Amino acid sequence: MSGPADFARHTRPELARLFRALRLDVTYLTGRGDHLTPERSEGSGEPGEPVLDLVGGAGSSLFGHHHPELVEVARRCLADGVPFNAQGSVRPGAAVLARRLSDLVGATTGARYVVTLGSTGADAVEAAVKHAAVEHRRRLAAAQEETELTLRRVRRDGLAAAPCASGPAAGRPCAEVLAGAVERIAVLRRRDPLYVSLRNAFHGKTAAAGTLTHGGNVPHDLRVPGPRHHRLHDWAPGAVVGALDAERVPVPSVVLGRDGVPHSAERYLSPVAACFAEPVQGESGVREVPAATLAALRELADRHGAALVFDEIQCGMGRTGPFLASEASGVRADYYLFSKSLGGGLAKVSALLVAEDRYVPEFGRHHTSTFADDDFSARVATAALGLSVAYRDRITAAGALLRDRLARVAARWPEAVAEVRGRGLLLGVEFRLPAPASGLLREVFDSESLGYLIAGRMLHTHRIRVLPTLSAPTTVRVQPSALIGADDIERVGAAFDEVAGVLANGEYATLLEH
Ligand code: PMP
Repeated sequence: MSGPADFARHTRPELARLFRALRLDVTYLTGRGDHLTPERSEGSGEPGEPVLDLVGGAGSSLFGHHHPELVEVARRCLADGVPFNAQGSVRPGAAVLARRLSDLVGATTGARYVVTLGSTGADAVEAAVKHAAVEHRRRLAAAQEETELTLRRVRRDGLAAAPCASGPAAGRPCAEVLAGAVERIAVLRRRDPLYVSLRNAFHGKTAAAGTLTHGGNVPHDLRVPGPRHHRLHDWAPGAVVGALDAERVPVPSVVLGRDGVPHSAERYLSPVAACFAEPVQGESGVREVPAATLAALRELADRHGAALVFDEIQCGMGRTGPFLASEASGVRADYYLFSKSLGGGLAKVSALLVAEDRYVPEFGRHHTSTFADDDFSARVATAALGLSVAYRDRITAAGALLRDRLARVAARWPEAVAEVRGRGLLLGVEFRLPAPASGLLREVFDSESLGYLIAGRMLHTHRIRVLPTLSAPTTVRVQPSALIGADDIERVGAAFDEVAGVLANGEYATLLEH
């Protein structure tokens, strides 16, 4: 067996080349807490010196590697023979997890939720896209049905020619207004639903999720067509609220007063089905979405009768301190998405929470997946929820300490570090792209490779594992677990300080030589 050769040939040829060039082609044998133990030399099976892991499973190891409490839950599942494949039965683990998720989010929002479990983050995003489409179609169908009913009634009662006494259609015969409304709704129903997401958004890489994702650094031919979509480039609240006004279709409604007199009322319908946002954008370089923008998105969604979806897959689960990263904004979404740390680093699990009053019951009958709802993942996830609550203060304190330390690095080397961003244990350090005099070095230090070159230096010189964020590769992610201690925080600060100093002093060869 040859791991590296098989990896290069049979799994990720392009990444294998990149990892080899940057000496990131390391195999890890074990993980405990914030540390991974690499293989000393290729194929030896011998442990090397542990590495402090700040990649943290791309944000999924909030409780570190193999947290003992979570391992114990997993071990018990296997020892007791808890069924993994018991589809088509009442699955208690999934039920308990769903209830607990609803309670935890509801503690902030005051609402109750119906939970759709899945396996990956993108899975939850796809489920949200689909549920929003169902909700949207049913809303339009109900509007059409109600309008047709009123039209039949006015015709039956001989009121077809009666003019509307008030509202936008005042003076026009009510049957004509109603027939026009039916036609407009029918046209709208034939159009595909429209989805909205923000500049720099990252929501995953499957068809619909990939469309919502901004991903400017992904080659065009690697994207597949997804649902109809609008990107909000301008985050200014006024721009957000009115961004899709041109999509709104005026469809006056008509009601008959007690005296049988028809009155028209202003109503707009819209093809917008859902607006997505990550309250703190992770993969685009750890960028906070301002509370005012989140509030504007709430207004936008309400203006279009659309669902507001908060993707808390990376920033939620207590990674920023509170269970919801959006808590401080005071803005309430209709759907919430979780994954990553929900699985406690041991299970692949995700959840879509839909507010109970919006949930379409048939959705849960028809939207199924082989590996969703398994008791193993659900039990591990329920235990992870417990840890998320227990570690809240610890995460807040460690996050503040780490951010302060990194901010000191940024203040010392402003030529190298553009900014330190984030909250709690979701932090990013944005480096400035160096401009070496040598043309050859400029080729090497492009925006796609800078983060990886830094990662190589951090790994081989400092025994610290970092990687750039996926769609902003000059930002290095710093996402340790809740267990990180003051000593390791100081180590992280010192390592970033050294690397920033190397860049600020133009010692580019140093970054290439490890
Ligand atoms: N949403 C967000 C905010 C994410 O950060 C990610 C993963 N980086 C996803 C969705 C997709 O999750 P997955 O990789 O499990 O499909």
